[in-house]
Amino acid sequence: MYASRNIELCSKDCLCLFVCPTGAADTETGQIDRDLCLDGCRLCVDACPSHAIYLVMNNYPEPGVKNEELTSLMMALLERKTEQEQAARNLESAAQKPGEKKLAMALGKSLRILAEDCAREAGFMLPQSRSVRDMLKELTETVDSEKNEIISKLLREIGKVK
Ligand code: SF4
Ligand code: SF4
Repeated sequence: MYASRNIELCSKDCLCLFVCPTGAADTETGQIDRDLCLDGCRLCVDACPSHAIYLVMNNYPEPGVKNEELTSLMMALLERKTEQEQAARNLESAAQKPGEKKLAMALGKSLRILAEDCAREAGFMLPQSRSVRDMLKELTETVDSEKNEIISKLLREIGKVK
């Protein structure tokens, strides 16, 4: 692991410079010198009053390959959560008392978060992912020309389709 500094949070009090045993935190660029940083030392992380320094892994594990069964289960769950969210939104519109309205709104938000989790697990959160592009391409075959144009533009924008 090595330390990295978020310059936008840094209040320039220089505490990290004083505690760093190697001088890695003291660079002209404001960035921590990765080559000098001791693996996992974290003295600067603990010293920083602005929480501007964090540790970064040297290597991240490869993301797991999603199998089709898991993807289709996630998609089914996503569909259910979306329907439930719509029901919660309808409840919110129909609610008479402020407390009921708030409760329905919170329920809708919570269901939206769950639906987004399902979408991510099914591989649909990254706009440049193959799943998203395939889904968009499929959509272009079923929608009217106006929507088709919008989807085609989106596909061009994400830069993966000519
Ligand atoms: S983790 Fe340790 S070595 Fe690395 S910059 Fe911070 S204080 Fe210096
Ligand atoms: S200790 Fe934190 S706030 Fe202070 S100079 Fe270092 S990174 Fe910036």
